[in-house]
Amino acid sequence: MKKRIALMGLYHETNTFIDMPTTLEDFQNNFWLVGDQILAEYAGAHHEISGVIEVITATEDMELVPVFYAMATPGGMIDKQAFETLLAELWHNLDRCGPIDGCVVVPHGAGVADGYPDMDGHWLTELRRKLGPQIPITGTLDPHANVSPAMAEATNALVAYASNPHVDQRIAGLKAAQLLVRTLRGEINPRQKLVQLPLAISIEQQYTSQDPCKSLIATMNQVAGEKNFVSASLLLGFPYADVAEMGSGFLFIADAQDADKATDDLEEVTHRLSDYVLDRRASFNGVKTSIEQVYAVLPGLAKPVLLLDMGDNVGGGGQEIVRF
Ligand SMILES: [Zn+2]
Repeated sequence: MKKRIALMGLYHETNTFIDMPTTLEDFQNNFWLVGDQILAEYAGAHHEISGVIEVITATEDMELVPVFYAMATPGGMIDKQAFETLLAELWHNLDRCGPIDGCVVVPHGAGVADGYPDMDGHWLTELRRKLGPQIPITGTLDPHANVSPAMAEATNALVAYASNPHVDQRIAGLKAAQLLVRTLRGEINPRQKLVQLPLAISIEQQYTSQDPCKSLIATMNQVAGEKNFVSASLLLGFPYADVAEMGSGFLFIADAQDADKATDDLEEVTHRLSDYVLDRRASFNGVKTSIEQVYAVLPGLAKPVLLLDMGDNVGGGGQEIVRF
């Protein structure tokens, strides 16, 4: 009998500094996909869900069970009732699916709802409680996630996109699904460690094709490769969320088939890479330019001139267009 793999996600990047809440209608008007609607929307696309679909449908002894996916990113804090309605819809659809053997989740990782400051930690913890400790849960993250201990605790293995701007979402989905397949086959026993650094990398320095992040990622991959980790992710963090877990960090996943080695390796890599960042912390500061300096050079520039917020979502949910 085929193993049944559930696929689900509540996806939101929440800017807690803007007044306008994200409502249920915002989700209904963006993405509100039940069951096979998820496949119809994402199969063959460059998205993490597409990567998950690709791997699981190509695995002979496994069957993909698409459950529910809702997205309305970015925006202000999610309305309390909207989040509770989303949760009810998620659990209703999961319950309808019957028993499952594994689960792939696709949160963004920076969701905040009114009354639920760690929104993703809340629904992932609830999911773990519903599935029990034996069902493996892997998943993807946007690196602009503020990952909480609850999120890491509730899941077996999360993989963040490795690029900013994000051009490898599908690859993150492939990796998350492959980790689930390998776990279910007993080939690996993932042990996940969240490292929360005592800093937030400025959004101005988060471009992964340039230093300091380019070298940081290369160093992370080298150090994690030396230990044969099954995954290593840099978490850039999302600065427009006033929550306890806001900040940058890493998610390392070791193979705990040799439990003592995994413990030692995770500890060693945590120290080496934390030291790497802290020793260079000044390089992760943003380079600020005053508005007066900008105005002084504007007349000499070719038109049109765009003045934009930094980041892959303009203002993380708020935006203003200035015309000259
Ligand atoms: Zn992002």
